[in-house]
Amino acid sequence: MIAIAKPSINFTPDQQVKIKAAVKQMNQLLSKVDHWVKYRLLTRVDREQLMAQGFAQDLVDNLIYLTQRFKEEKPEYDKLAIGFTSEAFDPSLFACKIAVDALQKNTKGCCSWCESYLEHTQAQVGHYRPPTGYSKDNNLHRRSYYSLAYEDSNLLYACHTCSELYKADQFPTIDNQHVPDVKLEDEKPVLVNPYSGNPRDYIRFNPLNAMAYDFDLACRFYATQGKRKDEVEQFIWQDSANIPLQKTAASEAISHAGIDNAYRDWLEQNKTLAKSSRGAMTIQIVGLNRGTLVYARANHLASLWSQYSNNLSGSADKTDDEKTEIQQSKEPEGTQYRSLTLDAINTWQKAASAVSPATKE
Ligand SMILES: [Zn+2]
Repeated sequence: MIAIAKPSINFTPDQQVKIKAAVKQMNQLLSKVDHWVKYRLLTRVDREQLMAQGFAQDLVDNLIYLTQRFKEEKPEYDKLAIGFTSEAFDPSLFACKIAVDALQKNTKGCCSWCESYLEHTQAQVGHYRPPTGYSKDNNLHRRSYYSLAYEDSNLLYACHTCSELYKADQFPTIDNQHVPDVKLEDEKPVLVNPYSGNPRDYIRFNPLNAMAYDFDLACRFYATQGKRKDEVEQFIWQDSANIPLQKTAASEAISHAGIDNAYRDWLEQNKTLAKSSRGAMTIQIVGLNRGTLVYARANHLASLWSQYSNNLSGSADKTDDEKTEIQQSKEPEGTQYRSLTLDAINTWQKAASAVSPATKE
């Protein structure tokens, strides 16, 4: 994942009116049923009455109103969950051509999560905060982010696999505090947001096995050895075996054994810290190390390497970004796997400079 500029979608005046009206209706409908009692079931008569009061049928039909028992909490308790199913949101608005084109431009045609280049037919518009709410085991766990369904900063250009099969409507937070119990700006999402901060602070790639790894956790571990983040970056680019717990596709260890042992001991003593790693959790939730994706990244690395060894020899004085541009200008898919490309080129560059004094003459 790399940082993506926040999109600005120029919805037509007609679409803006529709979006405003939809969000307003959802607000009114939810505040209407908000004071209804727990354990009440939403009946056909209730729905008909809501429609008679002027609420749109597609919202009323897709309104969720149920009482859930939170058995995993001690003591267990019941909570009213209200929200909407995905059918309440209009894809002809949030995924209209204007939105798709604007989002695609900002990602240069790549999935916001996995950075695979997408043909137009493979791409879809997903949500960072799910308008249908965070559900697990098909249960709605809390009021959803329905009002963010059409917000451009909540819309992501993404592939079907990342967006639907993996992420879906998951949206855990570090302290389990969600909107509306906390303010949006005070919420602590687990998922790295490609529009805010730098995703590379959390997730980076190992050019030896094309796997994503939790750079945030590696930094925390190496901080115990007195290394700053920029030092960890250099240390890892110098030798990919300094990334802890890395394996080949055949499950052979490729990290230094001493580092792995120290890292495992540290993890054992810092279980909570490991669990709160946004990098590790995002890799898992979006499926950044799924087999097909790692295979595609390995192929990308192979072609990158042949270009690197052929073309980059005369560009030692170029910046990292320029080197990446040189590589990627030659690829038909544009700028896919840019974060992996950055790590690979920096790693190879370090290896080249390490041997160059001996081979220069
Ligand atoms: Zn993807």
